[in-house]
Amino acid sequence: MRTTAVIIGAGQAGLAMSWWFAARSIDHVVLERGEVANTWRTERWPSLTLLTPNWQSRLPGFGYEGDDPDGFRTLPETIAFLERYARLVSPPLRTHCRVTSVRRTVDGYEVATAQGTWDCKAVVLATGGFNIAQRPKVSEAVPSGVAQLTPDQYRNPESLQPGGVLVVGAAATGAQLADEIQRAGRPVTLAVGEHVRACRTYRGKDMQWWMNAAGLNDERYDEVENLTRARSLPSFQLAGHPDRRNIDLNALTSLGVKLVGRLAGIRDGKAQLSGSLRNVCELADLKLNRLLNRIDEWAAENGVSGDPPHRPEPTRIEAAPPLGLDFERAGIRTIIWATGFRPDYSWLDIPVLDRKGNIRHDGGVVTEAPGLYLLGLTFLRRRKSSLMDGVGDDARDLSAHLAAHLGARSTGADAAAADA
Ligand SMILES: Cc1cc2nc3c(=O)[nH]c(=O)nc-3n(C[C@H](O)[C@H](O)[C@H](O)COP(=O)(O)OP(=O)(O)OC[C@H]3O[C@@H](n4cnc5c(N)ncnc54)[C@H](O)[C@@H]3O)c2cc1C
Repeated sequence: MRTTAVIIGAGQAGLAMSWWFAARSIDHVVLERGEVANTWRTERWPSLTLLTPNWQSRLPGFGYEGDDPDGFRTLPETIAFLERYARLVSPPLRTHCRVTSVRRTVDGYEVATAQGTWDCKAVVLATGGFNIAQRPKVSEAVPSGVAQLTPDQYRNPESLQPGGVLVVGAAATGAQLADEIQRAGRPVTLAVGEHVRACRTYRGKDMQWWMNAAGLNDERYDEVENLTRARSLPSFQLAGHPDRRNIDLNALTSLGVKLVGRLAGIRDGKAQLSGSLRNVCELADLKLNRLLNRIDEWAAENGVSGDPPHRPEPTRIEAAPPLGLDFERAGIRTIIWATGFRPDYSWLDIPVLDRKGNIRHDGGVVTEAPGLYLLGLTFLRRRKSSLMDGVGDDARDLSAHLAAHLGARSTGADAAAADA
């Protein structure tokens, strides 16, 4: 089969790109191994709610029209939202069509699937940045009586075996799971490394409102000082609950969660914990205060009124956090590795991966393989790139680049209007 461009993946990124391809009259097909929103259907835990408010799920040609813009979507609502978007975009979509290889040809690419092979001039990898939940090497030394799982395998507190739970990692996922499991009456220990502290609301407005209004989410990849670092930062400690509660470390310790340092090793059934807990918490407090300073400055310059500025209480750490943890004595029966996710390019037969398995690219343009593009990754082109709210702007930019690559002309009122 032959087409101009193949988009792999029908999550928000693939659908947004298809919308732009239609607007630019670029002939294409979208190949999806499952169904629309497959990742939300198969790789998330049931109680997950978006940490971004409803108004912040803007996709090309599609926004929030309900009466609860400041609320947070549940998982079924998120899937339904993307299904509605797919109906609007109406992409040339093949579902249950897993791509098994992409390789270069003389004049483009060959994309192989169980449903056949496509020859095309361009390929967009919209396959997600969070395909594989990472489990560090140290997990191999966990005693056999302790169950281990990753967030994509987690369902709910009731499905864990009885006893205490060690959650490793305090980014959004780890903090959300610690909050849920402790609230269900199960004792949680949280191993905390570098993290990004956040507060749900500040001066009476949602943190994402400030990030959006002050232009922080729009910061570009070619403007930040250390892009590699910006791309590897943990996610904000935020959750989207109706009570707009915080899930920072102070909120978690108030619930009874026990904080320990980063899990550095395991020997003879005992965890070795880093002594850096106080330092990483002080650093996270400092960075949050810097962010709030920026917000206050922006608010003053732009005449935004609200509650007066304030600073959160520093993270509370016990005087001498333990440096070791005996799983048996502490009653820990389950470990949840909330230690991040990475993309899966095992099916990509083009030598563009760096030694960490990431694709070398310049804002989503894979310069070593002209016609190959990436979409949906953390800080791909902007701070908001991996968010639902951010992928549309990246898709607009990259579809323009791709159109130029094809020598095609952007046609259609939608594209012209949106480019203006
Ligand atoms: C736990 C978690 C919570 C998040 N919460 C939020 C939030 O609250 N708000 C927010 O804005 N963002 C959130 N994100 C970030 C982001 O919005 C999601 O990760 C989102 O799913 C990314 O969309 P995507 O289209 O880039 O990738 P995905 O949704 O992962 O879509 C990729 C698609 O590609 C398909 N695919 C992959 N490989 C192949 C192949 N070989 N062949 C064919 N198809 C393939 C997959 O089946 C999938 O459907 C969250 C991320 C995580 C991990």
